[in-house]
Amino acid sequence: MITRHPEKVNKPINPIKKKPSWIRSKLTNSQEFFLTKSIVNQYKLKTVCQEANCPNITECWSKRHATFLIMGDTCTRACAFCDVKTGKPKNLDSFEPIKISFAVKKLNLKHAVITSVDRDDLDDGGADHFYKVIIETKKNNPETTIEVLTPDFLRKGESYKKVIDAKPDVFNHNIETVPRLYRQVRPGSRYFSSVELLKNAKKIDKNIFTKSGLMVGLGEHKDEILQIMDDLRSAKVDFLTIGQYLQPSVKHHPLARFYRPEEFNELGSIAKSKGFLLVSSSPLTRSSYHADEDFAKLQKNRINQTNAQSIS
Ligand code: SF4
Repeated sequence: MITRHPEKVNKPINPIKKKPSWIRSKLTNSQEFFLTKSIVNQYKLKTVCQEANCPNITECWSKRHATFLIMGDTCTRACAFCDVKTGKPKNLDSFEPIKISFAVKKLNLKHAVITSVDRDDLDDGGADHFYKVIIETKKNNPETTIEVLTPDFLRKGESYKKVIDAKPDVFNHNIETVPRLYRQVRPGSRYFSSVELLKNAKKIDKNIFTKSGLMVGLGEHKDEILQIMDDLRSAKVDFLTIGQYLQPSVKHHPLARFYRPEEFNELGSIAKSKGFLLVSSSPLTRSSYHADEDFAKLQKNRINQTNAQSIS
């Protein structure tokens, strides 16, 4: 049997906890869902919705909202929380930028979200490919806003600047968990490099919206979550997403606990009080969940903030 996670074969078995009543995906079975699926298949594209086994897929695809996964379906990192396949990736598809741009057009997306696997095997970590995908998508869809959710480009110098050169509207990079858990949960990444990436993105382009996401339920403590909020605010991150970690298999990082909806509300209120322009905090929040509606809110909140500052 070919395993999707060869690096996890010898990991201990961590039994999967039963989901509480508040973790329920919305089941819709609309024509739109199948239309989204057929467009994704027609262009032979990958989506993180499918590859990461996202619980929101029926809801999002019923609104034609799919998040494209570029540079293949095989990741060079081995994060303990993620269900995306790991191993040696294939060569880049030079037609992918045009295929994404056509799919965005067919789906008639007002806001397109594009993410990727980690490509540590490439000299620039895939920054140039991101650039091409953004530029091509904008060319064919000038009214569509673009959000990218990027890897950390660790040890790839300043290659990330190429992504920002393409002028995406939102630059997202997930912090995922608290620094104490990085060695177990995100062993190939470095917490402060991720914070630095977000800080630099904003420094280079002050008009870009920066965004980051955190999973809870991996064994973190509340004071550590609050510290992350402060670190991200110091990096001038605009938008924070907080969602429940769901353990993909018995070989993945053990789920410590489910947070109750009221705990998400509390974390959301604290984050707002720390000055984020927007916060999404709920059990099923994911980086790209409701990204189109949230982008509209981000724009509105920035206008309100600018107006308030000019009055005071
Ligand atoms: S939340 Fe994001 S990854 Fe999940 S189905 Fe929706 S668009 Fe896809």
